[in-house]
Amino acid sequence: MSAVTSFVDVLLPLPLNQSYTYSVPEDLVSTIQVGCRVIVPLGTRKLYTGIVMELHERKPIGYSVKPIYSLPDENPILIGPQLEFWKRLASYYMCSVGEVMKAALPSGLKLESETLVTLSDEFEQDESLKEREIKVLDALISGKPTSLMDLSKNSGIANVLPVVQELMQKGALLISEGLRSSFKAKTKAYIRLTETYRNNHELLKTVMDEASRAKKQVEVLMAWLELSSFFREPQPLEVGKKELLDRSGTSSAVLQVLCNKNILETYVREIGRLTQSKEEQTEISTLSKMQKEALTAIKESFKEQSVCLLHGLTSSGKTEIYIHLIEECIRSGKQALYLVPEIALTTQLSDRLKRVFGNKLGVYHSKFPDAERVELWNKLVQTQEYQVILGVRSSIFLPFHSLGLIIVDEEHESSFKQQDPAPRYHARNAALILASMHGTKTLLGTATPSLETYLNCQNGKFGLVELFARHHEMAMPEIIAVNTKELRRKKIMKTLFSPILTEKVGEALAANEQVILFQNRRGYAPILECKACGWVPKCDRCDVSLTLHKYHKKLTCHYCGFERDVPQTCPACGTPGLSTHGFGTEQIEEEVRALFPKARIARMDTDTTKSRHSYEQIIHDFESGKTDILIGTQMVTKGLDFDHVRVVGILNADQMLNLPDFRAYERSFQLMAQVSGRSGRKGKRGKVIIQTSDPEQVVIKDVITNDFKSFYEREMLMRKQFSYPPFTRIVQIRFKHKDLSTVRSAAQAYANLIRPVFGQRLLGPDQPPVSRINNYYLQHLLLKVETEASASKVKDILYDALAAFKEESIFRAVQVSFDVDPL
Ligand code: ADP
Ligand code: ZN
Ligand code: ZN
Repeated sequence: MSAVTSFVDVLLPLPLNQSYTYSVPEDLVSTIQVGCRVIVPLGTRKLYTGIVMELHERKPIGYSVKPIYSLPDENPILIGPQLEFWKRLASYYMCSVGEVMKAALPSGLKLESETLVTLSDEFEQDESLKEREIKVLDALISGKPTSLMDLSKNSGIANVLPVVQELMQKGALLISEGLRSSFKAKTKAYIRLTETYRNNHELLKTVMDEASRAKKQVEVLMAWLELSSFFREPQPLEVGKKELLDRSGTSSAVLQVLCNKNILETYVREIGRLTQSKEEQTEISTLSKMQKEALTAIKESFKEQSVCLLHGLTSSGKTEIYIHLIEECIRSGKQALYLVPEIALTTQLSDRLKRVFGNKLGVYHSKFPDAERVELWNKLVQTQEYQVILGVRSSIFLPFHSLGLIIVDEEHESSFKQQDPAPRYHARNAALILASMHGTKTLLGTATPSLETYLNCQNGKFGLVELFARHHEMAMPEIIAVNTKELRRKKIMKTLFSPILTEKVGEALAANEQVILFQNRRGYAPILECKACGWVPKCDRCDVSLTLHKYHKKLTCHYCGFERDVPQTCPACGTPGLSTHGFGTEQIEEEVRALFPKARIARMDTDTTKSRHSYEQIIHDFESGKTDILIGTQMVTKGLDFDHVRVVGILNADQMLNLPDFRAYERSFQLMAQVSGRSGRKGKRGKVIIQTSDPEQVVIKDVITNDFKSFYEREMLMRKQFSYPPFTRIVQIRFKHKDLSTVRSAAQAYANLIRPVFGQRLLGPDQPPVSRINNYYLQHLLLKVETEASASKVKDILYDALAAFKEESIFRAVQVSFDVDPL
């Protein structure tokens, strides 16, 4: 290798708080830049993809520096303040920059020895492949996902990563995404003219004439020409195989003949892909007078403040206002980022936004195949094609040239917070950091603000704009609380449905209107129990009981995914017939089917939305009236906009109100108010039935009167009294180990180190409600510090203590992590 002239510090996607120095071979010196990807060796056998953080001339002393292995792209894949942003997040959320990198980049941009790859079935080999590329493809021919480490062995190429890199760029390889790949993406077969005929209309006519004796074939061709608008559109429309056969009324055998003649050809595509659709563009809607006033007020507030909260009723037209702001933003040549908490929402919104912004809209979320995420990333770096990005929390990591606006819709949603692994960031708060780095404004929107945000409005840090009329002056729904305890005592209610809920659902169905039923628990029943001896099935790996999933006939652990069959008799005492306690969405579905056998029913929860298209399917079916009743968990509460929902049923309000969490009331208020807001958005006034054992409960009363301020004030008093956020900041310190006594003494030892500094502010050690997950025992410490205290000082103390703690050899294997602002 040629002489070395300079060095780079490289960031690797690892939980280590350091970067690594490599030398740069001479031929790369002129091209390498900060923000470029590099492939580098680490240890003796492993290769990683890293990011160049710094170029310098300081030769490290004390060890021999290795050269970087290769430079896969010509240009940086990070632009603007991205690297700086990662550093800020790592520092705030107490993790390594490498962990942020790992969360930020799609898998295809961070290949490493453990990455699994497979052959893409869409790729066709041609002569341009190099010999080593062919070797790699041959080694993958079995179709099994193979790690790069194994691939290296099987292909006989020592450093296989750069070859894989090349093959990925040619579209020959796919990153295999573990579990997700087992949910086969939905594909659709399409038919098109082969290239010869597409470009030669004369030839096409000749063929039609020649085939005139074969009537059926002509029918297929005619149907295709018609469906594709071939002679009318410069770009023919896509024609699905099924539509073609339906339209022409022929069999696929006839189609096959045409394919064999090389006139038509089949191609398969995953539906819903990023490809440019021919969606009708519509004009941006005119705002109502109140919406206009709100828009003006927001812009006014942006003159003074960088963050503004739009507190608007459900269905007041917040989304319309966002659209207007985005439109202005992109007209000024800048990009807009529109964050939503849930994939389900991107589905509905992307249609709505696409109609206005057409192909300027890019959508980004984790259910998209990795190749598409990489494609969007690269396009953002290289082109100005996408000016509006709609996405879930990870889209804050996308490469933006110049952001002009960030919108965080449903800002109160806890799904903006990443729980595990690090970085345990909150996308709303991270978005504020990102906005400040781009020198731009953020609009938060919701009908039920988080206490944190509302306090910031109260004390003048954020602007506040209120929109307290529903669009078209639609009335807020009528909310009725039903006393289930009373009804059960009087033996009037024997199922999960109170008579009034049954009645209202029946009325809605009779009037061809739709119903949403909400229960924040999936599965059939959370507890299965032997009536004779009290035996309850527990997870082998976690300290938690298994949830019954009747549909799959399994008992499942919601923490680690462990499954076992449902026993017919009690394994402890042999008594047959185990009874269930509590209920989840599956059980509701079962009862609804029995109560309303004619109704068309769909269920939306984690179990029914594992694949990318299942969301779209469920939402589209409900939107287009193909389903009458939608049953779901919190997924159905968020911002979805359906026109014909008349009745919303909240099956069990007590379950959420009674959770052992200081935020239980806040969450319950938000969930109930939000799910109620799904009803009566167009047409008649909606009805909401809340089933509870205590209709006098204060939170329920606030939901009924839609009184956010009353709720806010009461809740803030409680938070203040017990020093909870937003009056304090919380850092949770988590300890994890396979041995119970080790983890206990570890948490205690750490607590002893910091208690002299923090005193009463430190709580614990305690075991969390689920104290063992996946065979690891857990212990937690909770640190509550005043919001005025210096966050960086607190963190220094915690890190110093951690270093001292790790000096103890028995604690070295204990995993310690920090969760800043846990939710
Ligand atoms: P929110 O986001 O506050 O829940 P949306 O923006 O979804 O409210 O508005 C609710 C419904 O009313 C949507 O179907 C939307 O299309 C319609 N709507 C709201 N404002 C307007 C407007 N100015 N012109 C036309 N339709 C509107
Ligand atoms: Zn038993
Ligand atoms: Zn488990």
